[in-house]
Order: sequence, then C-alpha cells, then structure tokens
Amino acid sequence: MMADFQPLVPGAGPEITLGVMGGGQLGRMFVHAAQQMGFFTAVLDPDANSPAGRVSHHHIQTAYTDPEGLAKLAAVSFAITTEFENVPAQALVELAKSRPVAPAASAVGIAQDRAAEKAHFVNCGVPCAPYAVIETPAQLAAVADNLLPGILKTTRMGYDGKGQVRVTTRAELAAAWDGLKQVPCVLEKMLPLALECSVLVARGSDGSCVNLPVQRNLHRDGILAVTEVYEGNLPAAPAERAVAAAKSIANGLQYVGVLCVEFFVLDESNPAAAGLGGLVVNEMAPRPHNSGHYSMDACDQSQFDLQVRTLAGLPLVQPRQHSPAIMLNLLGDIWPGQGSQDGAPPWAQVLALPGTHLHLYGKSKASKGRKMGHLNITGPTVEQVRATALQAAKILGIAAF
Ligand code: ADP
Ligand code: MG
Repeated sequence: MMADFQPLVPGAGPEITLGVMGGGQLGRMFVHAAQQMGFFTAVLDPDANSPAGRVSHHHIQTAYTDPEGLAKLAAVSFAITTEFENVPAQALVELAKSRPVAPAASAVGIAQDRAAEKAHFVNCGVPCAPYAVIETPAQLAAVADNLLPGILKTTRMGYDGKGQVRVTTRAELAAAWDGLKQVPCVLEKMLPLALECSVLVARGSDGSCVNLPVQRNLHRDGILAVTEVYEGNLPAAPAERAVAAAKSIANGLQYVGVLCVEFFVLDESNPAAAGLGGLVVNEMAPRPHNSGHYSMDACDQSQFDLQVRTLAGLPLVQPRQHSPAIMLNLLGDIWPGQGSQDGAPPWAQVLALPGTHLHLYGKSKASKGRKMGHLNITGPTVEQVRATALQAAKILGIAAF
C-alpha cells in the first residue's frame, strides 16, 4: 500500500473504481460486494465470458501481463486487488508503480511458491509438515527417510490436488520427480489427519486484523467438497491456535487484504503425528477462498465485504456469524448431460428446503471438477442445518458427509 493512501469513499461515482486481476468466480463475488457498496469495478481477464468480467462496469480483455491492459486497469482503478493466486507477481509490481495494490506482489509471490511459503510459516513460528525442497538430484538423494511415505508437490502452480504425487519408497519418489519433469518440488511427510480446517483473516494497511470463524473442510479427490461452520465443528484448542497462527502469518507478511490459511488437525493417536503439537499449517491463499463462501449468508460481513474494506482502506470490524452454516461445493459433476448446456440440477427441489442459498457463477459449460457454484445452508440450529444439507446433497447426488 502507498503511504499516502486515503480511504476511498463508497458511492462517490464512477471515478471511484476498484480493480481486480482475474475474472473467475472469486472476482465475480468481489465485484458484487464492491458494487453493493456503491463502488464501480474493473476486471482484467482475457476471457470474454469470464464470470467477473460479465458483471463488472469495466472488463479489460487482455492477457495478465499485457502492458496496455495493465495500463488501462491502472488508469480506471483507484486501487487494485487479485482474485487468483497465480496472477503473475510482475504484473502486480507494474500496477503498484501507479496504484495501491493489495495484497502486495511480495506476499502473493510467497504464496505462489510452496518452498517460500513454508519458509515463511517456519519464520512465524507456526509448524508445518516436515519437508524437504527438491530442486537438484543431490537434494533428491539427500531426502531423509522419515519423510516417507510422503507427498511430492510442485512448488508452483498446484491447486485442487494437481501437481501432487503420493510416494512410499525412494524409487517411487525418484520416478514421481521424473514424472513431474524434475521441476522444483517439496516433499512433505504424509501426516495422519484428524480433520482439515481453514481460517480467513482480513488485515488493513493500519495493521488491524479480523477473522472469520474457523471452517472445517472436507476434500474429495483433492477438491473442497463441504465446509461446516458452527459451534463445536472442531475442538476449541486447535481452533484458537489456528486463528492466532493465521494472524501471525498475515502480520509477518505485513499483509493487506483477505488471506486464507489452511491447517491440518492431526490424529495424535498415530505415531506419525509425534512431536508436531497436533496442529500444522498446510498452505495459504492470498485472496478469499472457497472455504469462506458460507460467510456470504451466515455472517454479517462476507469474505468479499472484507476484501472490499481492506482494498478501500475502510474500517475493519470483527465479523459475527449469525447462523450455523454448511456449504456444499457445486462441481460440474452433478450437472446432467455434462459438457452440454441442456439440463441443470434440480434447483427447485433444493430451493424448496428451508435456509438454502444458491450461488451460481455464470459458467455455461459444466465439466468434471469444475466449480460451477455453491449452496449455502443456514438455519436456527446445527441439527437443522445438517439435516437440510444432507437432504440437499441427496437431491443433488453429492455423497453424504
Ligand atoms: P492444493 O494446493 O491442491 O489444495 P494441498 O497441499 O492443500 O494442495 O493438498 C491437497 C490435499 O491433500 C489436502 O487438503 C489434504 O487433504 C491432502 N494433503 C496434502 N498434504 C498432506 C500431508 N502432508 N499429509 C496428509 N495429507 C495431505
Ligand atoms: Mg489446499
């Protein structure tokens, strides 16, 4: 953030435009939140049909590194954020020459690289899974035996379980690294997980920091499937430690914006968890996150409202969750006639259930694993929310949880 940055005034007209790099669903929901507060918006994304580009006042349709596109975005925007963590850090550096950019290129750059990210966690005193960086054959040969069985992950460009191979022996490890074309990787020890959770924090340029409640996440095939957020969704002690850890990770980066930090709660009855203290950090995303979508219907400020506030330099107030919530991710898998436009899941049946909130991202083509939308379920009690969520899942052909 620039030192002389003054809060932006909502509703002051088209000259107060917030810009976002990336036109996916996260950008779309940011645009909706910004517009609700009276800001104008600009999206840079090469795709003419991008979910965010289609709802924004301005859509600059160029590559993320196109100098003209970046200049146009900077020309119309008062401040610029990102919705997509693999946005080239150099593009953010360019934009930051003339506009406030949050989060900063330096923070996004760290989150883009698993090795740099883990080094940052260690610096902040937050334990992560034991790991080794593998960039050379010598480093491969020097891997400690206790990291096996493990997961080999490319340091860059991995998401939704892509760029990862599970390995048990040294021979498998070597073959896996060859399979990944010997790009820089980290090998992480495979840990016994009791559950996975994540925390969203929002930090302002004045250093103030607020958080959403801790989310409990269920992944299937490496993709988030279900998020549950309510009293008692996970044990209190690791939940409190996760919030404190996420805040120290954000503070350590001098972060401005919304940051999601993912954690593993370990099964401590398993000897492989020994010495790790029961909670380890997995990874972070320098933006709102799929696991925070429940906040749109269950909290008095959504993660996108928080993103708008941090970008505009407006006050951060601790959000309050007013309803227990479950989010079901709606992947292309549940569309009938996948890949064609005929047929939609039985939305009317789902919307007939109390407390269901349907969010679709405006993507015309459904395909396996593609994030098409999400369904939030809220209600007066945890029991009711769970019962409704299970009913909705059944109607949609999503496995029970
Ligand atoms: P992505 O960037 O694809 O989300 P993650 O590093 O979060 O990659 O890994 C995806 C999933 O794989 C995690 O949510 C978790 O279920 C599992 N996983 C990753 N690392 C480990 C580990 N060290 N031990 C056990 N399970 C893991
Ligand atoms: Mg992950």
